[in-house]
Amino acid sequence: MHQFIFDQPNYRVIFGVGSLDALPDEVRRLGRRALVVSTPAELPFAEDAARRLGDAAAGMFTGAVMHHPIEVVRAARERAREVDADCYVTIGGGTTTGTGKAIALETGMPVIAVPTTYAGSEMTPIYGMTEGGVKKTGRDRKVLPKTVIYDPTLTVSLPPQVSGPSGMNAMAHCVEGLYAFDGNPIVTLMATEGIRALARSLPVVVREPANLEARSDALYGAWLAGIVLGSASIGIHHKLCHTLGGTFNLPHAEVHTVVLPHATAYNRDFAPEAMRLAADALGARDAAQGIFDLIVTIGAPTSLQQIGMPADGLDRAAQLATQNQYPNPRPIEYGPIRALLENAYHGRRP
Ligand code: NAD
Repeated sequence: MHQFIFDQPNYRVIFGVGSLDALPDEVRRLGRRALVVSTPAELPFAEDAARRLGDAAAGMFTGAVMHHPIEVVRAARERAREVDADCYVTIGGGTTTGTGKAIALETGMPVIAVPTTYAGSEMTPIYGMTEGGVKKTGRDRKVLPKTVIYDPTLTVSLPPQVSGPSGMNAMAHCVEGLYAFDGNPIVTLMATEGIRALARSLPVVVREPANLEARSDALYGAWLAGIVLGSASIGIHHKLCHTLGGTFNLPHAEVHTVVLPHATAYNRDFAPEAMRLAADALGARDAAQGIFDLIVTIGAPTSLQQIGMPADGLDRAAQLATQNQYPNPRPIEYGPIRALLENAYHGRRP
């Protein structure tokens, strides 16, 4: 029997090859002059965006960094004031998108996001900001970009070793949406479609990075994954990734990649319908094994050992992952979680 709450924010999304051409019009809808924000490595994207904006570009701020220290957010705000900007354009990966969300939280000014990876942050009200060495996270619809422009052309430069894990990060959002206690039928539709799009596109994306059809399909899956993450709660998979990433400083997308098959196997017998839907979308008999096989196919990491996890950290990780639990179909208990981490550490097929 269906029972759910459906409460979806408004999104304005412009999707397609060449959609970055819409940027000047989108800025005009929201303001006069935009400050273009990116990380230092994403400078070429910021320059391209500023060039396209012409007079509507107030300037650039290319100091975005991970974890969004409040000092960086304030520096961006100061820069916007100096150059008389009344809106922001963020162009880059999840780090840049997250900086835009922190800016929106602090300033209330409109942000247009142009994502260039598959992280999906632009579709979620989840924000993070670091102040005095302490990272604060929360959910607030105020941080949602006013417009999101998805142009697959911008993702062609993502190398296979970034594309693969980034795509698996997106798939993780979909998988957890399928068994979220607060999911709804639309979330389920988006999650299964997201898994299907990512599963068929990622092998092509890593083999032929310039294949625009596959890039478009992968970005489409990532868009759906972002909405799923923003609409439903997260469970053991994201809890483990937050614990491992935060405590052992492991790379974000790679942790998601390694952990996903094991977190899926952990819930295997406790969320049968979610497993059936995920397996079906993957074209596999078993969801966890289908995910693991896909990771092998795309040449992404399969073990925590490979991505810098210290072997003597597994006990601590299991302890931390069982504290402040996220809702999850299977009870979160130290023994089975420790075993999961051991399997993930060695990259065993689940
Ligand atoms: P990232 O932003 O660090 O980008 C990964 C790398 O790819 C960087 O080196 C970047 O310079 C490079 N890059 C980006 N786009 C490129 C392109 N098109 N071509 C070539 N190189 C490119 O990492 P990410 O995986 O995109 O995002 C991870 C971050 O996003 C984490 O901090 C994570 O916490 C956050 N995130 C937040 C949410 C949320 O809802 N709040 C959701 C997902 C991820």
